[in-house]
Amino acid sequence: MTIGILGGGQLGYMLALAGYPLGLHFRFLDPSPEAPVGRIAQRVTADYTDRAALEKFSSGLELVTYEFENVPVEAANFLTERVPVYPPPAALEAAQDRLAEKDLFRTLGIATTEFASVSNPGELDAAVKTLGLPAVLKTSRMGYDGKGQWILRTAEDVAKAKSELPPVKLILERFVPFTRELSVLAVRSRNGETAIYPLVENHHRNGILRLSLAPAPRLEPSIQRAAENAARRVLESLKYVGVLAIEFFEHRGELLANEMAPRVHNSGHWTIEGAVTSQFENHLRAVLGLPLGSTAAAGHCAMLNLIGDLPESSEVLAVPDAHLHLYGMLNLIGDLPESAEVLAVPDAHLHLYGKSPRPGRKLGHVTLRAASPERLALRLSELPAFFHRPDFCLDAALAPSASLRA
Ligand code: AMP
Repeated sequence: MTIGILGGGQLGYMLALAGYPLGLHFRFLDPSPEAPVGRIAQRVTADYTDRAALEKFSSGLELVTYEFENVPVEAANFLTERVPVYPPPAALEAAQDRLAEKDLFRTLGIATTEFASVSNPGELDAAVKTLGLPAVLKTSRMGYDGKGQWILRTAEDVAKAKSELPPVKLILERFVPFTRELSVLAVRSRNGETAIYPLVENHHRNGILRLSLAPAPRLEPSIQRAAENAARRVLESLKYVGVLAIEFFEHRGELLANEMAPRVHNSGHWTIEGAVTSQFENHLRAVLGLPLGSTAAAGHCAMLNLIGDLPESSEVLAVPDAHLHLYGMLNLIGDLPESAEVLAVPDAHLHLYGKSPRPGRKLGHVTLRAASPERLALRLSELPAFFHRPDFCLDAALAPSASLRA
């Protein structure tokens, strides 16, 4: 039985790794000839809008799913005429547009920060007047990992934003001085069965996830219940099938939904070693209509993302007399830790996605799983020096949510 997956990045890679023990085969479609899944599965290199390629890709597949939420909705709709596609393209459509997504949350009674639609300088002024400053201006579509967004703190920031406003639909959101960021992973099967993982605490740097702690430390049961209620409402309203992630801000003891991803999610990587059933396996079980596996945590986990931090070539070459040599090796700076050093830490698990390093690119992750929060803290302190840089947020892990204890 062959499953088709749109997108061939690390999420697809880990879906395939979870599917092989279930006897599944995979075929991926990705525009990049470098897509990491090429190492382990059939890969079609074509644009998502290439109908002839989509037609060929879909031939003989049991179903199609996706690991990338910016797959064009037309491509998903085109495929639904040939083969079942899960999650439903309606979920893709809602998640691709921040305004539609927040409208959906509101319609379902899920709290969000205040927001307004902005398409021109006049609307930005009006929105700032209503929402106040600070506020966050984001492109409504195609933003991820903090790209396409600006924090407006002062009238000067607003004036600058007005003069540089891109000609696309934008959303202005009231800035939330949150206590912490949490995410929930929920899964709904083709036969309507649902299951929800414990909430995860997330720490970002420059808009990119660096560290997840799971289950989220010091979590009030009422907060877990609120996240589960929100997730169930979205799952049922969209007749969703597969894993869905919703990201929240915890603010004044309540949850505000920020965004959702209709796919397996980076903040769920801990489930590979840290839950009875991983998000990847449960996504496959859901789309195939198989019974879901337990989402219970099996210990306490920290997941650290390994992000490429090579300098931008253009920045290096802007320096007179600078000569840049990129050999696909990692001599510039330690992009990746030494595997032996990571694996010398008991309870550490290393995942490398086989991607060539680029700044801001997710190259791999490390998960530590321990029997207690104290043991987890000990293991984190034993990580090699590579992880003791501030961008790994280890301080947050060693004194998680310090502000919550206040
Ligand atoms: P997003 O692309 O919406 O996930 O935003 C990336 C990151 O920016 C989030 O993880 C938050 O840390 C921050 N952020 C986004 N929106 C807001 C907001 N309305 N208030 C405060 N911080 C925000």
